[in-house]
Amino acid sequence: MRSKPIIAIDGPAGAGKSSVARELARVLGFALVDTGAMYRTLALAAHEAGIAFTDGDAIADLGAKLLADGSLSFTHVGSGIRVLLRGEDVSKRIRTPEVALGASTVSKFPPVRNVLLGLQRKVAENGGVVLEGRDIGTVVCPDAEVKFFLTARPEIRAQRRFEELQEKGEVKTSLAQTLQEVIARDEQDKNRPVAPLRPADDAVIIDSSDWSLDETIARMLDIAGRAHKA
Ligand code: C5P
Repeated sequence: MRSKPIIAIDGPAGAGKSSVARELARVLGFALVDTGAMYRTLALAAHEAGIAFTDGDAIADLGAKLLADGSLSFTHVGSGIRVLLRGEDVSKRIRTPEVALGASTVSKFPPVRNVLLGLQRKVAENGGVVLEGRDIGTVVCPDAEVKFFLTARPEIRAQRRFEELQEKGEVKTSLAQTLQEVIARDEQDKNRPVAPLRPADDAVIIDSSDWSLDETIARMLDIAGRAHKA
């Protein structure tokens, strides 16, 4: 048993994984790994290189090259992840709805997933880490000591996403369109043949539709504490 656990948080878009993962990591003094940001960054890099999101092999080659020569790095800072792509801080640019949908498309291809899998497993191996994504409990860290599948009704997830965009002053969309985007991304993520979005058999399913962020976090901290002692 690792001295500190791996905490896996999977779930659909807009379920609040990032906020919850950040807070859990902060309270427990764990590292935080946002695997969605990695797929988003590969989508952005592909777009900049003029590679179609459907060209999985070319994107995998590009990703491998960028990681190998240090042109792509992910650092976790207090409030989230800082992504450097060829020296440029793209942390904000990867958060657009277009890049989100692009990430969902590029992540369907096994060669693309394989490029990131090694990196994700390496940062997790010693424990003391919270990883958030879609396949952490099923593929990346099937031996994680604590697994959550965080979800909420689609309307609630769209509402939260929309409020987040409003807070950032980046509202170029409507609530109805945000809902459509959330649903389209879920469908694509659930229906892919490789590493589809689904709860691990041993995951604790948390439906946060009717809970505040604080309630959700308190619940998850309690479960994580008990799971690791067991
Ligand atoms: O979590 P986030 O919204 O940043 O993820 C963006 C996209 O990256 C997801 O819609 C999903 O297709 C993909 N992803 C994935 N596996 C992960 C994390 C994210 O396929 N572990």
